[in-house]
Amino acid sequence: MLMPEDCIFCKIAAGEIPVKPIYQDDQLVAFADINPVAPQHVLVIPRKHLSSLAEAGEADKALLGHAMLMLPKIAAQIGLAADGFRIVLNTGKNGGQTVMHLHWHILGGRYMEWPPG
Ligand code: AMP
Ligand code: ZN
Repeated sequence: MLMPEDCIFCKIAAGEIPVKPIYQDDQLVAFADINPVAPQHVLVIPRKHLSSLAEAGEADKALLGHAMLMLPKIAAQIGLAADGFRIVLNTGKNGGQTVMHLHWHILGGRYMEWPPG
């Protein structure tokens, strides 16, 4: 599997940069965002390096399905089941993506405005 040497999320997935995992399995790791923008702000990353959602292909269907089903479970684990949460998947420059390793944001603990900025 391609693991770009300079990819910070690959390093987190490999345990080279230690984080306190909120959830992990053979395909995903979830941990707190270093710069939270909401009272609860968790990142969920695949262990596999995909630079963005736009890079995912047929071979990634099971991984993407697994992630989509795990996101609400992880949100529930951090106490967001009752009041809800927002999942964000920034993609590319205009999507606001800054780390080029696919990741979902779970945001909660306050009302999320719409439309986003
Ligand atoms: P995005 O703008 O969607 O690419 O989000 C990247 C997110 O990664 C930002 O919210 C950053 O705060 C977060 N981030 C960057 N480096 C780390 C790190 N070492 N640990 C946790 N979160 C990080
Ligand atoms: Zn990576």
